[in-house]
Amino acid sequence: MRKTHEKLINENSTRLDGRKSNQLRPIKIEVGTLSNADGSAYIEQGKNKILAAVYGPKELHPKHRALPDRALLICRYHMAPFSVQERKSPAPSRREIEISKVIREALEPSVFVEYYPRTSIDIFIEVLQADGGTRCSGITVASLALADAGIPMHDLVSACAAGKVDGQLVLDLNDIEDKEGEADLPLALMPNLNAITLIQMDGDLSINEFEQTLNLAKEGCKQIHALQKDALKAKYAAVKEVVEEK
Ligand code: ADP
Repeated sequence: MRKTHEKLINENSTRLDGRKSNQLRPIKIEVGTLSNADGSAYIEQGKNKILAAVYGPKELHPKHRALPDRALLICRYHMAPFSVQERKSPAPSRREIEISKVIREALEPSVFVEYYPRTSIDIFIEVLQADGGTRCSGITVASLALADAGIPMHDLVSACAAGKVDGQLVLDLNDIEDKEGEADLPLALMPNLNAITLIQMDGDLSINEFEQTLNLAKEGCKQIHALQKDALKAKYAAVKEVVEEK
């Protein structure tokens, strides 16, 4: 691919957006953004802006899709036409269909699906603005929307990529780093259980680099996990205040 920047990391080891190699992008999370969904959350991670909504557990239509022993998770990841610089077609692309599948598989191990046989849990992820790593931010925010819907879970799922850019291992790649870097490794983790629910890799890493990149991504997931918990607590602290005022 043609490089738009000669160097993505300067001689002071600073990245184009001013971060050090092991630094996450600034993250802002809100839980309970939408009043009409059963659960919802919103995340800004750098320039990514993503909204997630959850409906369910609810009766599944058509009924023949229902599973006798557990809930069916249905996930739709969608990028808005205005989420990238060149208008994106609103029709689902192959990429969005694939990302919807991997996000569903990353979230499913966290949910006690066996509590709700014959039902569906619908998860909608709307990317309003994209700047690299949207599948990871999408998993992080959707996991919070599931928790906000009151669905019992083993742990929150936290997701973050690490990779290699200009020969250096870096955390939480943005769009340019994702496209022009050497490797990208998106990871989703249930940090309390140390259980990985998604791992993908694009590009080339030696075995040694792979191990270091994996550990870097795990550390990123743990930091995001703490922010997720804070965002959940902030919502329920606000609810408690309103109840106490009444
Ligand atoms: P992820 O967002 O999980 O990193 P990709 O690696 O497929 O997924 O995409 C990297 C980035 O490329 C996206 O976050 C987005 O910024 C950009 N991108 C994806 N699809 C398009 C598109 N159709 N047009 C322009 N940019 C896109």
